[in-house]
Amino acid sequence: MGILVVGSVALDTVETPFGKITEGLGGSATHFSMSASYHTNVSMVAVVGEDFPEAHLQLLKSRDIDIKGIQKVPGKTFRWSGRYDYDLNNAQTLQTDLNVFESFKPQISADLKNPDFLFLANIDPVLQLSVIEQVSKPKLIALDTMNFWIQGKKDDLLKTIKKIDLITINEGEARLLTGESSLLKAARKVQAMGPKTIVIKQGEYGALLFHEGHVFSAPGLPLEDVKDPTGAGDSFAGGFMGHISKVGKVDLATLKQAVILGSVMASFNVEQFSCDRLKSLTKEDIQERFKLFVALSQFESTY
Ligand code: AMP
Repeated sequence: MGILVVGSVALDTVETPFGKITEGLGGSATHFSMSASYHTNVSMVAVVGEDFPEAHLQLLKSRDIDIKGIQKVPGKTFRWSGRYDYDLNNAQTLQTDLNVFESFKPQISADLKNPDFLFLANIDPVLQLSVIEQVSKPKLIALDTMNFWIQGKKDDLLKTIKKIDLITINEGEARLLTGESSLLKAARKVQAMGPKTIVIKQGEYGALLFHEGHVFSAPGLPLEDVKDPTGAGDSFAGGFMGHISKVGKVDLATLKQAVILGSVMASFNVEQFSCDRLKSLTKEDIQERFKLFVALSQFESTY
């Protein structure tokens, strides 16, 4: 069946040194699904308000994403606004309006209750847990979160983290969650909380994978044009989970390749605002960039 994802669908207002977008299509589940759709089947569970443009739903459909689980309810769609300075690695949140997410209770329909893979994209950890409780045990449960929830709902987050297999988190959030400055120590502490596999995203510098006792490092691809880093983490997770779902198993070799596919998809996502760059990639675009990642850190070992 592929991946079931629950997370935010949003209208984002974002300003970077390279431009601005007002109420563009965003949200953790959106960026994730657009990215994963190049690798596997995806079903989304989320909520939007009556003001959510139909064209955005059509875009998701055009990528063959199953959107039956996106409810449209009275009220306003979730909105997030943020800005980035020249150091594009850190988003400064200006405003978060949960709106319809405030009273959202995800109901997983019978046809979505047996996913092979479950991704709990960044959203209230209480909602993430309620989804875990409604599905029969998938091959892998992965979760993403952010400082907003680490600071605001830490106890709920810890309860949810206990039930998952894998977490994707950025380096600042890993430090915030564990109180450790060393990422190795932070990863070990998170492993002690539940998940045996940790992916720490390091923005333009790449990502680290900790799986049981193994550590793997993926480089960040130097890019000429980064316009908007919003959704980099979610599109990373989409490529990462999409590859795991396509292969169908979770061993070290698959996880390493998945980290690179995640990095490939994130590198595309940041080249345009919103999800624009993920609208029309080809298989060749993805393969070519994958090769760039391999070449970037390959060297002769004669030392
Ligand atoms: P990232 O991949 O971390 O850049 O995620 C950016 C996306 O997360 C944006 O499209 C936002 O709409 C969404 N987002 C921001 N804050 C929250 C939040 N507190 N809960 C859920 N989604 C959020």
